[in-house]
Amino acid sequence: TFFTFEGPEGSGKSTQIELLAEELLGMGHEVVVTREPGGTAIGEEIRHLLIHSAAGKGMTPETELLLFGAARAQLVRELILPSLEKGCVVICDRFLDSTTVYQGAARSIATDPVSFINQFAVGPVTPDLTFILDVPHEESMRRVKRRATDIPDRMEEENSEFYKKVRDGYLLLAGSMPERFHVVDGTRPLEINQEEILKTALENL
Ligand code: C5P
Repeated sequence: TFFTFEGPEGSGKSTQIELLAEELLGMGHEVVVTREPGGTAIGEEIRHLLIHSAAGKGMTPETELLLFGAARAQLVRELILPSLEKGCVVICDRFLDSTTVYQGAARSIATDPVSFINQFAVGPVTPDLTFILDVPHEESMRRVKRRATDIPDRMEEENSEFYKKVRDGYLLLAGSMPERFHVVDGTRPLEINQEEILKTALENL
């Protein structure tokens, strides 16, 4: 089973992923947790490139789209697909929907190239279920400002308009494929969301 988590930075994705992985492990499942961009040696190098050569330093949205796609293509073939074939539960922090939303909706690359490159990168692998942690853009900006991020270059140019496009992009996507998405209100207490996510994940195992 393949679960992915999406949402803006500061939405609580990584905390919920850790909690879900622990619960599933405790129940005896084999669990593989990974993240995008990254998760493989090649993918982590691409991550480094994306972080330190942010769009503000001259990286074009097209280059960015291809690099996220490249990291994802590697992750799918090197880790996700083999783990799924072994029967593991795979949980990924961001996946193709991040590209639809960040490179597509927020950075305004046309839908056709985005969806083509996404499809090419993921091949036969589609998430069984995608959790979106939904947080109003003012709130996610506030949360991000409160903590140090490993992507300071990127955040500077990601203003409130950008965050709004990201949030709207996710909600639009979820609305268009309600069977694959489960939207969680990221402003609720952590424990409530933890319970809801576990329950929903178990129903989809
Ligand atoms: O996963 P995390 O929340 O740490 O991602 C941080 C940032 O990475 C996002 O806020 C966004 O700037 C960037 N990102 C992106 N396009 C993606 C995935 C992530 O621009 N496809």
